[in-house]
Amino acid sequence: MKKKISILGSTGSIGKQALEVVDCLQDKFEIVGLAAGSNLEEFKKQIRKYNPEFVSVKTQELAQELKKDIKNKEILWGNDGLVEIAKNTQNDIILSAVTGLNGLFPVLAAVDKGIDIALANKETLVAAGNIVMNKAKEKNVKILPVDSEHSAIFQCLASRDFSNAKKLIITGSGGPFRNKSLEEIQKATVEETLAHPNWSMGDKITVDSATLMNKGLEVIEARWLFGIDYKNIEVVIHPQSIVHSAVEFLDGSVIAQMGLPSMHIPIQYALTYPETFEGIKTGTMIFAQIGKLEFEKPDLEKFPCLNLAYEAGIKGGTYPTVLNASNEEAVYAFLRGEIKLTEIYSIVYKALEQHNCIQNPGLEDIIETDKKTRIFAQNLI
Ligand code: NDP
Ligand code: MG
Repeated sequence: MKKKISILGSTGSIGKQALEVVDCLQDKFEIVGLAAGSNLEEFKKQIRKYNPEFVSVKTQELAQELKKDIKNKEILWGNDGLVEIAKNTQNDIILSAVTGLNGLFPVLAAVDKGIDIALANKETLVAAGNIVMNKAKEKNVKILPVDSEHSAIFQCLASRDFSNAKKLIITGSGGPFRNKSLEEIQKATVEETLAHPNWSMGDKITVDSATLMNKGLEVIEARWLFGIDYKNIEVVIHPQSIVHSAVEFLDGSVIAQMGLPSMHIPIQYALTYPETFEGIKTGTMIFAQIGKLEFEKPDLEKFPCLNLAYEAGIKGGTYPTVLNASNEEAVYAFLRGEIKLTEIYSIVYKALEQHNCIQNPGLEDIIETDKKTRIFAQNLI
């Protein structure tokens, strides 16, 4: 029987690659719903090709615009549209691949209905990890990681009893500024920042990769996905992006997951889990051609955002929500050319410094903290 799937963020980098995975495994999947933001041209092509029963876009105006061409479907819109698509009980699984905290409510709605989640949208776990994971446990829902590092760890853990894991080792390429000086990073343009050496991704995550905030968000994501203490999560820079992450076990054995850098692999792993199929041809990894694999410590002076994320994670409560919200606002300001790349750190630092933390926050606390932090950050821009 085909797995029924809805994709939130189908016009984005992850969304489009997920549809390529579906194209390759046509007898395995059926598309039930698709949700996009504002790229109507791409979305129209997708709707015609996959004929999903449910579609949604970012705003009411965009929905009206789309309706002119897609006459035979009701067009949903906004956060309610995302939630509507996510909670449809026809879904066996949803892929959450929108950017930012927009992903939170649809994920919670799907979990509530017992629908498994393939999760690319890490901001959801950073801001509200406790709430999402507790609800998933209560509803017996699988949260399957799409982020390549977490997919790697998930695969490494599959070989042994979870409780025997001692340390998670998260790798990162180091981004475009790994070999640049702090002075050069301070002058970085948007164009230079978006030129990631190994991965082609959406703009927000590409900026996060350049500041290493992405690794910080991934540390927090790993803490919630795998329930492991921050002191047992290590980040290591690995410029070749071949080892996607590793797990050290109690007996000293270290298991790593490797592959050529392609998001098709972790996307497919999450969507087909627990089965494995021949998928998109990503090329063969030939060790002798790769030659050498290098590893180094992250430079926290040049990339202080990583430390901020660790600190926010360790302090817990609503601090990670503040980290996420202020970072999102600062990244979009950088992309609009309003601040320097290095000011992202200052804005997030100030937002965390002024915050009165709420320990064990409920959903309302998270939403309120997110809103207040965005206003605070916007006033600094
Ligand atoms: P993109 O910016 O490429 O895509 C984002 C998608 O979300 C687009 O389809 C966009 O629509 C849609 N979208 C944005 N805002 C809204 C909204 N308010 N309502 C509905 N849809 C919306 O991002 P990526 O694909 O790169 O990343 C998506 C998520 O996956 C992020 O959380 C990122 O951190 C994570 N991730 C990405 C990786 C990658 O390789 N790209 C790797 C690991 C994690 P539109 O374009 O039509 O406006
Ligand atoms: Mg990643």
